Amino acid sequence: MTAADRPSPLAPHPAASLVISFVNTHAGGSGEQLENADGLRQWLRAAGHPDDAVSDADAATAREFRDALRTLLLAHSQNDAVPPDHVAHAEARLVRISDNAPLHAVTSRTTTTLVPARSGLWGAFGAILIAITELDRAGMWQRIKACRNEICHEGFLDRSRNASAIYHGPGCSSMVSMRAYRQRKKDSQ
Ligand SMILES: [Zn+2]
Repeated sequence: MTAADRPSPLAPHPAASLVISFVNTHAGGSGEQLENADGLRQWLRAAGHPDDAVSDADAATAREFRDALRTLLLAHSQNDAVPPDHVAHAEARLVRISDNAPLHAVTSRTTTTLVPARSGLWGAFGAILIAITELDRAGMWQRIKACRNEICHEGFLDRSRNASAIYHGPGCSSMVSMRAYRQRKKDSQ
């Protein structure tokens, strides 16, 4: 791949959309979409990995996977508040998920593509792990972040030139500045 072939970090990327949509199954006050088997079934159908056999225990596994991903996305938004042991715990959880989400490498004369070896729930988890691998190869993994506003934590693709965004939008940025301003005012009284 030459530099010219690389996707621009400013362009939308399907792998980024998949990871972000999974993380945002609980973010920004939207409520918990993976509360139980029904919620998980709906998400899987929308993500193109239908699986009617999932249970409430699978929904709990999906939430653990998602929350571990969010921890890494928060660490990407330069959040010093994420302790290193939380990051290590999240990384270990992703490895455990990958133990059950085998991938196939489909190799042709010109390229190799990873595809999930299973269907349904574990196929979806495999697809998310593949998306992360693609983002990393494209130099974009660390641009997938979670908003630092603690009442938001929405996943987003940082499209800024110098990869310095820490909030998912101007609303959260001004909310946090306003909160800090009010706190300073209170402290000085
Ligand atoms: Zn936000």
